[in-house]
Amino acid sequence: MIEENLNRIKSELPSGVKLVAVSKFHPMEAILEAYQAGQTVFGENRPQELATKAVQLPQDIEWHFLGHLQTNKLKMVLPYATLVQSVDSVHLLQAIDNWGSNNDKVISVLLELHIGAEETKQGFHEEEILDILFHAEDYKNIRFCGLMGMASHTDDLEVIHADFERIDTFMAYLVDLFPDIEDFNQLSIGMSDDWPVAVQHGSTMVRIGTAIFGAREY
Ligand SMILES: *Cc1c(COP(=O)(O)O)cnc(C)c1O
Repeated sequence: MIEENLNRIKSELPSGVKLVAVSKFHPMEAILEAYQAGQTVFGENRPQELATKAVQLPQDIEWHFLGHLQTNKLKMVLPYATLVQSVDSVHLLQAIDNWGSNNDKVISVLLELHIGAEETKQGFHEEEILDILFHAEDYKNIRFCGLMGMASHTDDLEVIHADFERIDTFMAYLVDLFPDIEDFNQLSIGMSDDWPVAVQHGSTMVRIGTAIFGAREY
């Protein structure tokens, strides 16, 4: 089942869009099944779970962290994650930069833009991201790789289009404004229910869980 799901999604995904298989809450066997079907990039949203899986599963897996990250949990995430997709505060950014400095590592991150309607959703506003990127050089151990966003949780396609359009437009604006931030080129938008819309709005990376692994049991 996992293999069929992966193959179907990959056949529909435009080339050049990276597929991150979101394996949170799913057991290692499910990840191994996807891995054996050729998938090597996985996303997790809980620090302890990421650390446990990263240590035990094949070492050539590329792990992305997608969840809320508390600064006291960095040591469970940063040794393993190739990309932290969910940086949502300056406090966290500074802590990651410090960790990188202490561990002689440069950490690749995406800045999470708040685009959905939900009040509770994490993420920066546009002005905050501008402010960070104007000071990008202050963060010596951070590599700014782009933006991540989640559309409103709705069946209304127009709203989803509008959300993704907004982040795509902002991304283009940033790329133009900050040509010196070399690696700033990734736009992580699109999940199980809305990725076909996201790829119409410049997605370079989709994060798909349920459509690959089935429903999560919390
Ligand atoms: C869980 C999660 C996903 C995957 O969601 P699905 O709807 O299962 O595809 C993608 N992005 C983030 C940030 C998540 O937390």
